[in-house]
Amino acid sequence: MNRLSNLPKIDEFLCDYRLIEKSGGIPSKRVTEIVRSCVDSMRMTVLQGGPSGIRGELFELIMSDVLSSLSEYTSERLTSVINATGVIIHTNLGRAKLSQSCMARALLISTEYNNLELSLKTGARRNRLAYIERLLCDLTGAEAALVVNNNAAAALLASAALCAGKEIILSRGEIVEIGDSFRIADIIALSGCRIIEVGATNRTHISDYERAISPDTACIAKIHTSNYKIMGFTAAVPAVELQSLADDHGLFVLEDMGSGIMVDLRSYGLPYERTVADAIRDGVGVVTISGDKILGGPQAGIIVGKEKHIAPMKKSQLLRCLRMDKLSLAALEATLIEYTQKTPSIPVLELIGQPPDILKVRAERLKAALSVVSGLTFTVQPHTAQIGGGSLPEQSLPSWGVLVKGLHLSNNKLEAMLRSGNPPIVATLQPDGVMLNVITIPDSRIGDVVTNLLAHKPVSQAHT
Ligand SMILES: *Cc1c(COP(=O)(O)O)cnc(C)c1O
Repeated sequence: MNRLSNLPKIDEFLCDYRLIEKSGGIPSKRVTEIVRSCVDSMRMTVLQGGPSGIRGELFELIMSDVLSSLSEYTSERLTSVINATGVIIHTNLGRAKLSQSCMARALLISTEYNNLELSLKTGARRNRLAYIERLLCDLTGAEAALVVNNNAAAALLASAALCAGKEIILSRGEIVEIGDSFRIADIIALSGCRIIEVGATNRTHISDYERAISPDTACIAKIHTSNYKIMGFTAAVPAVELQSLADDHGLFVLEDMGSGIMVDLRSYGLPYERTVADAIRDGVGVVTISGDKILGGPQAGIIVGKEKHIAPMKKSQLLRCLRMDKLSLAALEATLIEYTQKTPSIPVLELIGQPPDILKVRAERLKAALSVVSGLTFTVQPHTAQIGGGSLPEQSLPSWGVLVKGLHLSNNKLEAMLRSGNPPIVATLQPDGVMLNVITIPDSRIGDVVTNLLAHKPVSQAHT
C-alpha cells in the first residue's frame, strides 16, 4: 500500500473546531498555507520512513503542528495582561491605565459622529483643540496650550517652530535616552537646530549656560532626567534660574518635564515634586509633558507656556503631522476634566495612593486564593513598588506581594509559564522565586491569577 494513503487532506483540517477556534485574526489564505506546509512536512517525514501509522494518529500529529503555528502567528497580537511587576506606569505594559469612564467617552465620541472640527455654536469650522487648550491653561496657569501626539513630538515641534537654524543650550547631565535608543536631544536636533552641550555629566552651573549664550542662541533647554538619578557630587541649575538668565538675554526656557505632574503629590503620601503649574509660575516659556505617564491619560504630548512661543507652533506645517486623533483626544479631554475635581479619579494616582496595609491584606487574600494550586509554594512578603515611566525614579512605594516558588520548577520556567498563560501575568524574577506585587493587581483580578496558575498544572510539568 502507498505509504502516503493515510495522509489526511487539507480540507479535513480546515473544518476541525480546534483550528477554527485558533484561526481568528489570521487571513484564511494564510491558515490554508500553514496547514499545507504542515501536511507537506509530514509527507516528507512519511516518505523518509517516518510514521505512516493509522490515519487518526497522523491527523493528530499534523494538527498539533498546525495549532502551534497558528498560535505563533497571533502570539504578538495586543492582549490585556496582569501587571504583577509592581511598576505602576510600565512602558512595556502600556504605561498609564485609563479609567472605564474615560474610555466610555472615547467610545461614544468615536462610534458616533461628533463635533471634532465643527463649532456647534456658529456652524463654522473649529480647532479640534479649542476646549482642551482652554482647560489646560486654567489647570496650569499658562497663557497658551497645544496638544500633539506624544511628548517627543512636542519637543520636536517646539524646537522646529522656535529654534530651527539656531542653537539650543543643554546641560550634559540632561542628555537623556528615553528608551529603545531614542534620545530627546537627538529628536530636538532633527528640527534643524544645533545643541550646544554645557557643563559636565554630574555638574552644570549657571555660568556654564551664560558662557554658551551667543547671538545664535534660541533657547535654553531643560530636560527632566526621568529614568535615572545622578547622585553624589552633583549640581544642576533650577529652571527658575535658567529662566531669569534667559530673560536677561531675551531668550526663553524650553522645559521637557517628562512625566508632568498636575497635582501636589504630597496628598498621595509622596514627597513634594515640581508640578507643571510650578514651572509656569517660574516663568518657563515652553513646558512639554507626556499624556500617558503620571498624568494618567492616553498617549499625548502636552505643551503649555507663553502665547508668543506657542503661537508659532500652531502655525507650523509640522503640526498637521503630529496632531492627535479623535479617540485619544476624547480620552485626554476626559482625563483632564477629572483634574477639575478636588480628588481626580485617575487610575494612576489611585494606584499610587493605595495604603500599604490594604496591599498587605490583598496579598494575603491572593495567597489564600492560590491555595488551590498544587506544586507551588506561596509566601506573603513586602515588596517595593515604583511609579515607573520615568516618574520620580528614586521614589519607591511600600507594597506587598506573593512570592511564588515551584517545588520542581525553576524560577525562570515559572516566570515564563505565568507570562504565556491565560490571562498572561507579567511578574518579576527574584533569586528565591517569582514575585507577584499586588499594587497593580486589583481584588477583581485575583480570580484570573488563580486561573492562570491552575491551567498550568505545575506538578505534571515538574520535569519539563
Ligand atoms: C518619557 C519622556 C519623553 C517621551 O515622551 P513620549 O510621550 O513617550 O514621547 C520625553 N522626555 C522625557 C524627559 C521623558 O521622560
